[in-house]
Amino acid sequence: MTPAPGLRSGLLAGFCLLAALGAIVAGAFSLQAGRHLGADYSALAGDLVRAQEDTAELRLELNALRNHPHHRWHLTRIASLVARVPERIGTIRQGLSRSEIGEARYAPMLAELSQAETLYQRLASVIAAPDGGTDMDVPQLHRLGHELESTLAWTYSSLLEDVHRAAADQQRLMKWLSLAVVLLVILVLLVAAALMLALARIHRQWRSLRELSVTDELTRLANRRRLWEVAERYLELNRRDGGELSLLLIDLDHFKRFNDRYGHPAGDAVLQAVAAEFARLGRESDLVARLGGEEFAVLMPNTGLEGARQLGERLREATAGLPLPGQAGEQRLTISLGLATTRGGGDTLAQLYSRADRGLYRAKQNGRNRLEINAQA
Ligand code: GH3
Ligand code: MG
Ligand code: MG
Repeated sequence: MTPAPGLRSGLLAGFCLLAALGAIVAGAFSLQAGRHLGADYSALAGDLVRAQEDTAELRLELNALRNHPHHRWHLTRIASLVARVPERIGTIRQGLSRSEIGEARYAPMLAELSQAETLYQRLASVIAAPDGGTDMDVPQLHRLGHELESTLAWTYSSLLEDVHRAAADQQRLMKWLSLAVVLLVILVLLVAAALMLALARIHRQWRSLRELSVTDELTRLANRRRLWEVAERYLELNRRDGGELSLLLIDLDHFKRFNDRYGHPAGDAVLQAVAAEFARLGRESDLVARLGGEEFAVLMPNTGLEGARQLGERLREATAGLPLPGQAGEQRLTISLGLATTRGGGDTLAQLYSRADRGLYRAKQNGRNRLEINAQA
């Protein structure tokens, strides 16, 4: 017995959905995490590089002013570069506080930036001298300018080194984290697959147990329990649709004698042969069952008295013509049958059964190898 196709495809669909979700989660995690962290550091690194460029230009302009003190545009350029310093420092401070670099790691550079801010203020007051700079203390501007430039150059390059190192650390961590997430997803999928397989197996076992519990072991026909379940269902349907239901009870004649003469195993073989013959002659919709011992039943939905009687007669004739195994070959086997019909679910199952049983009793009384009808009471 295989598991229901619905359950199997349901489990498979569930697993595929889970696998697709797992792959999407793992992929999205790696992509997003990598993108966010990379963006943080590349913005800070960009700010530092731009600040470094300003510092390098400041150095060039200071040198140019030394060589050409009368070229006032150097002074204008220096003033504009110096004016940008607080904004550059502010942006870098912000970038550092937003980054994942530990504060202890960049504390010395922050101290240097504070020092640079002090230098900037002093330099700004030199540059802002009255008279358009004619009174400007140029040597002082040179000294402070170079001091500011070298402080900033050292600080920016140290910070850039730290940013590169932190970004590399972060990338490594990300790689491990992504790997861990992928492994976790795989693990979850494996557990889910194992659970689904176990569930399918339990379902399969449950179905075969259930099937066994309603199957007769010797003949593989339905057993009494199954006949009862199905008959109750048909009667319930008939109560709604007014249809007919017929029940044949069949008992092998003098079977004890047969067993005594040919042995129990031969008797078993006959029971199997009879069961196969009944199943072959019944319609697709009929339910043939072994009630126990040498007693059988055929439940016929949507079948009136006449149709059921015809089937009963066919079974009787076929049994009489059945070739018997071994030494019993010459022996003829006969059956007695009791038939009852009900319409519109008018009888309970017990009533229908009891009437068919009384018919069977009459068939035995009247000489066996015959069918007796017990129509609706
Ligand atoms: P009757 O015509 O009145 O029905 O007589 P009978 O001998 O068939 O009826 P009885 O109830 O006296 O005996 C039924 C016999 O069926 C008894 C037993 O030997 C036989 N029988 C019951 N179950 C099995 C079975 O599983 N295998 C075999 N080989 N024989 C069985
Ligand atoms: Mg019997
Ligand atoms: Mg019998």
